[in-house]
Amino acid sequence: MERTSTILLVEDNEDNQEIYRIILAHHGYAVLQAYDGGLGVEMARAHAPDLILMDLTMPVMDGLEATRMLKADPATAAIPVVALTAHTGSEDRAAAAAAGCAAFLSKPVEPGRVAAEVRRILEDGAGPRPSPKEERR
Ligand code: MN
Repeated sequence: MERTSTILLVEDNEDNQEIYRIILAHHGYAVLQAYDGGLGVEMARAHAPDLILMDLTMPVMDGLEATRMLKADPATAAIPVVALTAHTGSEDRAAAAAAGCAAFLSKPVEPGRVAAEVRRILEDGAGPRPSPKEERR
């Protein structure tokens, strides 16, 4: 029996919170939510989720800083972080990778892609991945 994987969704936009929560719940994941980066770090430490979906643009503490804090803490460093952002330039991707994000989803994200990416990373285990081909242009 597989246990239910828990996903921590860190996102400040209410519509996105709702959309991603519904997608993840529909695919059978338990969902925890935080509304800014600081709370996201606290919740990751308290609940040790299996994966974190991290919006990059948030108040209090942005997603890059929150990811750096998570990666610097041995208690949370192994949790894969998937960046969510509408800023999709190569510099944004590089910054997300440098902060320790395992993957990068550009908004608006199709529901199926969120679920597929979460499943892929949970099945692969954590760890940095090679850049997608589109980045090598
Ligand atoms: Mn945001």
